[in-house]
Amino acid sequence: MELIDIGVNLTHESFRHDLTEVLQRAAAAGVHRMVVTGTGVVPTREALALHAQYRDRLFATAGLHPHHASEFDATVRDTLRELAGQPGAVAIGECGLDYYRNYSPREAQLKAFAGQLELAVETGLPVFLHQRDAHADFMAVLRDYLPRLKAGVAHCFTGQPAELDECLAADLHIGITGWICDERRGRHLLPMMARIPADRLMVETDAPYLLPRSLKPSPPTRRNEPAFLPEVVRAVAAARNEPVADLAATSTATAMRFFGLR
Ligand SMILES: [Zn+2]
Repeated sequence: MELIDIGVNLTHESFRHDLTEVLQRAAAAGVHRMVVTGTGVVPTREALALHAQYRDRLFATAGLHPHHASEFDATVRDTLRELAGQPGAVAIGECGLDYYRNYSPREAQLKAFAGQLELAVETGLPVFLHQRDAHADFMAVLRDYLPRLKAGVAHCFTGQPAELDECLAADLHIGITGWICDERRGRHLLPMMARIPADRLMVETDAPYLLPRSLKPSPPTRRNEPAFLPEVVRAVAAARNEPVADLAATSTATAMRFFGLR
């Protein structure tokens, strides 16, 4: 099994002390390549530095998370544009809207989101999208850019069936995390899995967040890591009623094509 974790926050401080071991465990679990999420200018620089260190394994997105949208201005935009042109940068984002936490005011979120979609159009890179409790506004902003965007992935999709339909109709790819392994809040996702075409379905851990609750035995800490991606693949494959090996192969092929990896 060879998997690609399309969303992993390896620049998070919780990985600072043992990244080498984390990457070794990931490789042992079949997770050779990962896309490190850029959530701001500094994390994007750090993600690109990880690519310089692990050229064949780690790639980066360049973006500003909606939590930090208040920071978005012309300087940030120009810096992100420059970072997006560096080796290892494979997507713009993560960007989007988060009305669940509202850490940045909605006006600022809408502006930063549109600004980064503009960057994705300019650079010709695909876009890594975050959306929580903001589906209608998210689609409304996105709609203007869709015809000019190379591709987009709704990362950590946790929405309802009608939202999935709209995302698929908009030609978006879908990223599924360990949310689906959560028997309390992820059950509604199970019947939706079979409706996602294999060439639009990718998998991610969103580590260190979203530790799959179904892991047995449960790990000693709450920190999620890319080595746990097979647990997500197992849950999605079971929900699609398809062999794990098939989903592993198609999700990897889809991620390679989406991010332009070889
Ligand atoms: Zn996110």
